[in-house]
Amino acid sequence: AKRLTGPLDVGALEESLNEIVRRHDALRTSFSVCEGRPVQVISQARQVALPETDLRDLPVEAREREASRLAGLEAGRLFDLAQGPLFRAKLLRLTEEEHVLIVTMHHIVSDGWSVAVFMRELAMLYDAFRLGKPSPLPELPIQYADYALWQQNWLRGEVLEQQLDYWKRQLAGIPAALELATDRPRAAVHSFRGASIGAILPLGLLQRLNALSHSEGATLFMTLLAAFQALLSRYTGQEDIPVGSPIAGRTQVETEGLIGFFVNTLVLRGDLSGDPTFRQLLARVRETSLEAYAHQDLPFEKLVEELQPERDLGRNPLFQVMFALQNTPASSPELTGLKVAPLSVESKTSHFDLEVYLLEKPSGLTCTFVYATDLFDSGTIVRMMGHYQRLLESVVADPDRCLSTVDLMSGSERHQILVEWNQTETEYPRNKTVHGLFEEQVERTPEAVVLRDGREELRFGELNRRANRLAHFLRKRGVGPEVVVGVCMERSARTVVALLGVLKAGGAYVPLDPSYPEERLAFMLRDSGARVLLTDEPSAPRFSGHEAEVVRLDSVDAALSAESETNPVGASRPGDLAYVIYTSGSTGPPKGVEALHRGCVNRFAWMWRTYPFAAGEVCCQKTALSFVDSVWEIFGPLLQGIPSVVLPEETVRDPRAFLETLAAARVTRIVLVPSLLRALLDSGIDLAGTLPSLRWWVTSGEALSLELYRRFRGSLPGATLINLYGSSEVSADVTCWDSRSAEPRDAVPIGRPIANTQVYILDGRGQPVPVGIPGEIYVGGHGLARGYRNRPELTAERFLPDPFRRVPGARLFRTGDRGRYRDDGQIEYLVRTDFQIKLRGRRIEPGEIESRLGEHAAVVQAVVCLREDLPDQPRLVA
Ligand code: AMP
Ligand code: MG
Repeated sequence: AKRLTGPLDVGALEESLNEIVRRHDALRTSFSVCEGRPVQVISQARQVALPETDLRDLPVEAREREASRLAGLEAGRLFDLAQGPLFRAKLLRLTEEEHVLIVTMHHIVSDGWSVAVFMRELAMLYDAFRLGKPSPLPELPIQYADYALWQQNWLRGEVLEQQLDYWKRQLAGIPAALELATDRPRAAVHSFRGASIGAILPLGLLQRLNALSHSEGATLFMTLLAAFQALLSRYTGQEDIPVGSPIAGRTQVETEGLIGFFVNTLVLRGDLSGDPTFRQLLARVRETSLEAYAHQDLPFEKLVEELQPERDLGRNPLFQVMFALQNTPASSPELTGLKVAPLSVESKTSHFDLEVYLLEKPSGLTCTFVYATDLFDSGTIVRMMGHYQRLLESVVADPDRCLSTVDLMSGSERHQILVEWNQTETEYPRNKTVHGLFEEQVERTPEAVVLRDGREELRFGELNRRANRLAHFLRKRGVGPEVVVGVCMERSARTVVALLGVLKAGGAYVPLDPSYPEERLAFMLRDSGARVLLTDEPSAPRFSGHEAEVVRLDSVDAALSAESETNPVGASRPGDLAYVIYTSGSTGPPKGVEALHRGCVNRFAWMWRTYPFAAGEVCCQKTALSFVDSVWEIFGPLLQGIPSVVLPEETVRDPRAFLETLAAARVTRIVLVPSLLRALLDSGIDLAGTLPSLRWWVTSGEALSLELYRRFRGSLPGATLINLYGSSEVSADVTCWDSRSAEPRDAVPIGRPIANTQVYILDGRGQPVPVGIPGEIYVGGHGLARGYRNRPELTAERFLPDPFRRVPGARLFRTGDRGRYRDDGQIEYLVRTDFQIKLRGRRIEPGEIESRLGEHAAVVQAVVCLREDLPDQPRLVA
């Protein structure tokens, strides 16, 4: 689309267009199918119409908008390949002396170079015709069909073999895809919807890039490509970066003046292996490019046909990102008496995930990023352009620096991620212990009911007295600070007595789940060094051959009744061990996480402040003690005077009985893993109707899919869902997302760090990654456990010094989980799959897995993911 300013001779313009179409067979060609094969049909005479649209009546601004709109519309109008014409023109009249000429050619008969040919001829013809002179242009020596025929004859036999051999070798083992992190899950079929963003890089930078290219014997293109491939490598974590790049393809002089499709696409594979410096990478890119140019004649379509890469309608084969330096500026020669200027028409399509077009201009390097709007938000692309510029600046400043160490982020980006989003310092009772807080609550509400199980109802005072008797009993058996006591019993009010008794004695409990295999229980008991084992009748027989003293709590009442009922004295400190939870590796020995009072208290205080209990609330205990979620579930309400019902395991396993119990007790809050939430939703029971009091639903422990969240929303429109993320190593929960914040669009976030907690998302070298880029989640702050019991090496490996905060002794826990920041500071947890899942032959993206599972539960039976650090430990994620 060109804006023509000045007195326009419409007749001469129309005549010129007709002459161009007459000269170039390609513009009169259509493609029909003959005996099942496509053939070119060149029509002899074809009159080009130049329909005019008059916009003169519109006010100036509306006129400009309408012109752009019509130009966009023209660009998007379909061609009929079989019928033609594949060339069309349109004229918009804005004022007497201002027109817009819109010319649209199908790419099958033209390319970028053709546009320049077209404009040059148009200028010469218009100049002649308006003066009534004949065409000054010599007839063309050959036509596109001649070239096509020549190419077919030439590109066969040995010539073809030689080119094919090269590309087969060059593209062997090419990655199935460049895994650019997208803002939205990839759809099954690429829609080609797109948008573009432009920027101009400073002239000074362009000059230094040119100078660097020159000194390295490379072209500017190679330098820009090398930097771009380095950027993609940083974004994807891949070392093998295939990028497509167009090449004019007019290697024969005779083709230079033709309009037609000559352009070809070369696949240029960037090799980032071995953490190269820019100078090293540029040498590789230079070699790859030169070889590719020497084998540029094999059409991309032919290559795809020969290589037969796995096809996927959601992705372009072999490469998904296009990169071009346009060295032939789209020339706009003047038409006599007219000023010609391009009318910018916003591109609404993207053929690939991303297309990058660069152009050297006197003012600097213009960059246009065209991107698939199905995949990316504009903010992501703007950030990427900023990162590209920083990378370019860095490589011209120091080409010998390893590319992996270049900082992509600006100072403010870095500050936002490292500091602003981690400003969570908040007061909490930092000198208190879990049982200390309990004792304070007992003082406040000694007569209030605190626990109900099927058998008994306990009040605060009674619970405290029983726990005290047990504590004194345990102290006589050597339990005190840093001494571990095993607890293996069925869930009941008595279990809470046991836990409080251990803590009050100054010790730490190690939960032993009665449903675990005996060898595993024996291992945990031995490894933890438990001095005493508290158990009950059903669970006691599961243990044999160990050194701990076994105390069956259901049969020591007589002994306990002799003990004192008063709170044991002797200060426990916040830095003392509170419990040791063994995390469940499916292979290898389980490891005991040594958790401290401080982490629990900080976690509780955050929750009490953020989600304060109201009078009349009721909670429930139903989580196995061996899961860290049970810590809040038991003590969170208890330390605030809120009663809980304790549910036996059989009830939890039966959705109907479970829901009935929650309803009867008027439970107001529940903590549950998403799979339990799913089971409840699957039960078909009307949750909102059955549980009108249950307003707070806290999920944690597993990824919460968007699909499950939406089902929750649909069933419980009035309830609030809180998604917490964490692990045993960080006192349960360290990030929080609240469903009242904003309706999730593409994934349910795990939210932001809770009080006194820092979350960092780092790359493989421990450097923070920018917003949107996946990395590993690291956690710092007051929730950190002491480490793994008896495993100093493992502790040193996973609990590292915090390099970002100048707080003496600050540590970071390396979670092994992957996540990324969104631009609003919310964190997204990324399910990582180390293998491909296919559905009807198409690869499913990790982000899509769970939502598709809803539709095809019968097809995909299990999704297992491997943690990078624990490749031998498959993890069932759905
Ligand atoms: P554990 O060590 O047994 O406490 O399990 C902790 C692990 O569970 C974390 O490292 C995560 O992989 C996973 N996890 C916990 N909470 C969430 C959550 N809200 N979303 C996704 N994954 C979670
Ligand atoms: Mg774990």
